[in-house]
Amino acid sequence: MIPYGRQTISQKDIDAVVDVLKSDFLTQGPAVERFEEAVAGYCTAQRAVSVSNATAALHLACLALGVGPGDLVWTSPVSFVASANCARYCGADVDFVDIDPDTVTMSVAALSDKLSEAAKKNRLPKVVIPVHLAGQSCAMEEIGRLADQYGFSVVEDASHAIGGTYQSEKVGNCRYSDIAVFSFHPVKIITTAEGGMAVTNQPQLADKMAMLRSHGITRDPELMDQPSDGPWYYQQLELGHNYRLTDIQAALGYSQLQKLDGFVARRTQLADRYGTLLQSLPLTLPVQPADTTSAWHLYVVRLMRDRIALDQRDVFEKLREAGIGVNLHYIPIHLQPYYRNLGFGPGDFPNAEGYYKEAISLPLFPALTDAEQDKVIEGLRLALEK
Ligand SMILES: *Cc1c(COP(=O)(O)O)cnc(C)c1O
Repeated sequence: MIPYGRQTISQKDIDAVVDVLKSDFLTQGPAVERFEEAVAGYCTAQRAVSVSNATAALHLACLALGVGPGDLVWTSPVSFVASANCARYCGADVDFVDIDPDTVTMSVAALSDKLSEAAKKNRLPKVVIPVHLAGQSCAMEEIGRLADQYGFSVVEDASHAIGGTYQSEKVGNCRYSDIAVFSFHPVKIITTAEGGMAVTNQPQLADKMAMLRSHGITRDPELMDQPSDGPWYYQQLELGHNYRLTDIQAALGYSQLQKLDGFVARRTQLADRYGTLLQSLPLTLPVQPADTTSAWHLYVVRLMRDRIALDQRDVFEKLREAGIGVNLHYIPIHLQPYYRNLGFGPGDFPNAEGYYKEAISLPLFPALTDAEQDKVIEGLRLALEK
């Protein structure tokens, strides 16, 4: 089966991990700091805080921004559930902003309308979490302008998007946001097995996230409420978590980061090739706004359902039977039983639900060969034939 996504691990990556295993520190050593500085440098953010996964990064981002019970957090319904769950961990309420049916990311028009309604009801969100779906940046300048106007914070869920650009600058520079979050799960652009990173230009947010990822403990005498008892002393100031990344993972991440631009270049090449070779099929292909370049985490095609004989499920099963590991990103979050139990249901976000009935993610990863890609295209052609 050709998977939809797969990590690329080199001998250099393996050597980097083995070096850590032979060193003094398996966790909380020098590799973590080096990886953080390298990621901050890469995306030109001031600070980077590594964590055990992107879900933890989203949670810490919400906590650092003061999200708590009674607050409201908005995100896109077309995302992985973690984009919404992070607010629930803080006891906050979640709501969704429907997608733009062309870009499949949060619609700025829908956001603007929803904000103006929410302002009338005095129920504005504390944080909005736009999701750079498939590696494609949202319209951050417009979202940033609304954030200034209505006074909410912005956390970019850039789990798919390290290596992408917006307005010719790297995603994660936080020009229009407070915090951006990356995932290093194996299917994502670079991997640390499990792992994530929160980047920000606001040192106080970085310090807060760093403290909360390690139980809410500090060893900085400046932050303590009484003089130190001695060299062993630390204080727990808040209720934090154990969300640390290990040195083993950070060494892998640092090694992977050196290949990031190469990975994105190959993903882009394959995406361009899909774009050319799928042109004549009854599919809607991904849209690339002029001011962005995608990291191409996913290549999602949408079926023109009135022009094909099979339904989405049959196309899907036919491709899987042919050894092509297609997938679907994502089941709209508000249709998950957990969110239905909170009062959401079908019809709430029609563009997200319409997208869900048409979308199929095709295999896309740096090691995918042209020959394998040709097999995917041929399988799709056969499945779509009338
Ligand atoms: C993968 C993913 C996450 C969660 O990442 P983990 O590192 O697995 O916790 C969050 N949001 C989106 C959009 C993702 O794709």
